[in-house]
Amino acid sequence: MKRRTFLRSGLAGAAGLATISHTALAGDNGVSQEIIYRTLGKTGLKVPVVSFGVMRSDNNALVKAAYDGGMRMFDTAHGYMNGRNEEMLGSFFTSVPRESFILATKVKPAGVDSRTGLPSRETTAEDFLTKFELSLTRLKMDYVDILYMHAADSAEMVKHREITDAMLDLKKKGKVRFIGVSTHKNEPLVIRTMVEEGIWDVVLTAYNFNLAHLDDLNRALESAAKAGLGVVAMKTMAGGFLDKEKTKAVNPMAALKWALSNPNVHTTIPGITTFDQVNTDLKILTDITLTADEEKDLVAAAASGGLYCNACQNCIKGCPANLPIPEMMRAYMYAYGYGNLAMASDLLRETDATADQCTLCETCTAECIKGFDLKGKITDIARLKNVPYDLIA
Ligand code: SF4
Ligand code: SF4
Repeated sequence: MKRRTFLRSGLAGAAGLATISHTALAGDNGVSQEIIYRTLGKTGLKVPVVSFGVMRSDNNALVKAAYDGGMRMFDTAHGYMNGRNEEMLGSFFTSVPRESFILATKVKPAGVDSRTGLPSRETTAEDFLTKFELSLTRLKMDYVDILYMHAADSAEMVKHREITDAMLDLKKKGKVRFIGVSTHKNEPLVIRTMVEEGIWDVVLTAYNFNLAHLDDLNRALESAAKAGLGVVAMKTMAGGFLDKEKTKAVNPMAALKWALSNPNVHTTIPGITTFDQVNTDLKILTDITLTADEEKDLVAAAASGGLYCNACQNCIKGCPANLPIPEMMRAYMYAYGYGNLAMASDLLRETDATADQCTLCETCTAECIKGFDLKGKITDIARLKNVPYDLIA
């Protein structure tokens, strides 16, 4: 990470703090603390700066602990854990007032090419709406607060008229309060297209200290915020660990605080699977000041490369097999950084890569801007393709 980029973002954050509002909350030690809220763009929703990325959790006791601690936004998706994620949230949220939380889910359109992000004839509103109705049933809700088009990585998807019309119609019918796009590839292009289109309310974007295209993404986020888009940051932990062996963890408080040092980021959705993580994230609800030691940790982590793939696609042109390398690197991160084989397997099953493609090359001609050993990592993670899903999930 360029130190200049890092500091520029931090200074912008300090300026942004002046505009946020607070709510009193009693801390563990009895001393009054205040939760930091930001306004999610033109939605007007006041959201605590840390929200719950539910993605990998099926434990509603964790959700309750986060809710009791002051988190108010919960982020899931139609596809997470084959629907169990939405079902778990549905069972928990019947116990608290509907107006007391913000529920966001995502629906992934069918038939989108994982390399190009382009739609096909299978990409239809009918498929999208069928999945969304099932999500509502699992969630036991009449409406969701935010519905994202899941993993839209091209301008063509952001402008996909059939699906965007269907989403606007859901909004008109009151089944969805706000619509958005989630993206972790070509994020600046996707965000700029959302701004141009003018119909979107919220963007959920990959955002962390270890991104190679941070300057471009920061500029896109600035224009998003100016246009009134709510901005939610994901993948803030940059993979969670810097090595496959899990000997070097990313400093989670530093990573989250860094993301929030950009005032154009309104909330973050770290994935939470343990009570320790809940407690760490709750601390950041009331204190987002990045310390000098935390900054040092991030500079060192960024220099090490880590497990996080920027999804820049620069490697693909050097690969004669045209492998979907960014998706395979993301699966690698899910498996070794998050320790979640089911998510890694889900992602691999969406690609057409087979388990043995790299064995056809004597030497790897694809080059990674981060210096990843692509052949080694792909050969390693592609083995999952041959493991039956019921042994994993
Ligand atoms: S080794 Fe794998 S990633 Fe490298 S060029 Fe061959 S098929 Fe592509
Ligand atoms: S593997 Fe490397 S070159 Fe390929 S998309 Fe990821 S960061 Fe870019």
